[in-house]
Amino acid sequence: MTSMASRAMAAVNPATGERGTEHEVHGPAQIEFRLARAAQAAPRWARTPLHDRLAVVRRAGELLERERDRYAALMTAEMGKLLTAARDEVTKCAHCCHWYADHAEAMLAPEPVAVEGERAWVAYEPLGIVLAVMPWNFPLWQVIRFAAPALSAGNVALLKHASNVPGCALALEALFREAGAPAGVFQTLLVGSEAVADLLADERVKAATLTGSEGAGRSIASEAGKQLKKTVLELGGSDPFIVMPSCDLEATVATAVRARTINNGQSCIAAKRFVVHREVAEAFTRGFVEQIAALRVGDPTDSATQVGPLVSQKAVADLDAQVQDSVRAGARLLTGGRVLDGPGFYYAPTVLADAPRESPAYREELFGPVASLFVVQDADEAIALANDTKFGLGCSVWTRDMAEAERFAREIEAGSVFVNQIVASDPRFPFGGVKASGYGRELSAIGMREFTNVKTVRVKLWS
Ligand code: NAP
Repeated sequence: MTSMASRAMAAVNPATGERGTEHEVHGPAQIEFRLARAAQAAPRWARTPLHDRLAVVRRAGELLERERDRYAALMTAEMGKLLTAARDEVTKCAHCCHWYADHAEAMLAPEPVAVEGERAWVAYEPLGIVLAVMPWNFPLWQVIRFAAPALSAGNVALLKHASNVPGCALALEALFREAGAPAGVFQTLLVGSEAVADLLADERVKAATLTGSEGAGRSIASEAGKQLKKTVLELGGSDPFIVMPSCDLEATVATAVRARTINNGQSCIAAKRFVVHREVAEAFTRGFVEQIAALRVGDPTDSATQVGPLVSQKAVADLDAQVQDSVRAGARLLTGGRVLDGPGFYYAPTVLADAPRESPAYREELFGPVASLFVVQDADEAIALANDTKFGLGCSVWTRDMAEAERFAREIEAGSVFVNQIVASDPRFPFGGVKASGYGRELSAIGMREFTNVKTVRVKLWS
């Protein structure tokens, strides 16, 4: 393991700028202790009857429900999401645990294949230790949507959470311990990203999942590639939100505002580029800009607040640089476009129009409350513009014309297309992207089977 001097990790409350509890970063000895414990736990957990594994996952869901407000307050203090949204996130995590507890048995059952003269089946077996490298923006959800299926399938988890949410990382470890997971089945490593390459190289670690930025994805994919280890990558997005003339404009505008500002604008599947048909462009733009400008920005614990702070001072500076660069390149600023006074890390909800093709607002992911508007002549141009990005995570289309909706569903290059609704993850459906948004899927049976050995067994019967 890379030698790391003893140092501390702490969250900085984005609403106040205050540094939270210090946690000592795990050094080489602690990392080795946890790896060894995971390696010991892995074969035992794999052999534990499925019913008992699922009882742990179900219990984790119950504990999340029971302690919802405590988990929600922790997330808000560490990364600044609205407290109301944090409560919803905990509820969603609990639902995901219950969903896998209810359905995993059917999804993991061996599948017989009819072959004359044989008994044949496909089995789903756990891989062992899976390293999960996770981001801060949905500190519980990103982890639970990996852990509930992975643990159900018989894997054990090592969580390397984002360095700015150590309290959430430790709370998740405590959650699974309290839910009855044996020692070593779910552990947190309090380490920075520099520790990941050595973890991937360790032969006890069998696979890895990352939710995070494109850069982290490239780095983890290449390190895991050197070791020939399976990875699932859930990376960034610049999702289009396509508005066609037949939509219900009032409802579409209101949803567009929510779609852009969800999680204070810091969601991979937030709508980021608004692609609007010329026939409704003027009315859409008027309503959208009016509502974005009227959003109440402030304290995330106040239930009247609609947009809270960004995660860090650096996030504010980076977002502002992308906005200013886009304006210099020729984008029109329709509202916002400035850093708000502190304390705390706030950015004015912003709308840009007609960002040129080479500007950041067109090319890059803007991770904050900044919307980019584009007017198009027809569906052909909408599809071309929507696909003119390196990303391919989600897309939302607004239309009453079902033939048009089906065409968008077919031709948009993305992992999900939602019509007349916001893109959202749901345990019943696979979730993931194409292009620079990553590969592999989470959730549903498909997501659970990513971290299994899909084993073919054929037994020829003697006559
Ligand atoms: P990030 O910098 O990539 O961090 C995510 C995680 O990766 C953290 O644990 C981080 O550790 C680690 N990490 C960063 N660089 C690494 C490297 N070179 N090698 C190994 N690990 C590394 O991402 P972020 O900026 O915090 O999060 C926002 C990004 O995540 C956005 O692009 C967003 O769209 C994406 N995201 C995607 C999804 C999805 O489902 N597709 C969901 C949510 C977010 P440290 O914290 O220690 O640096």
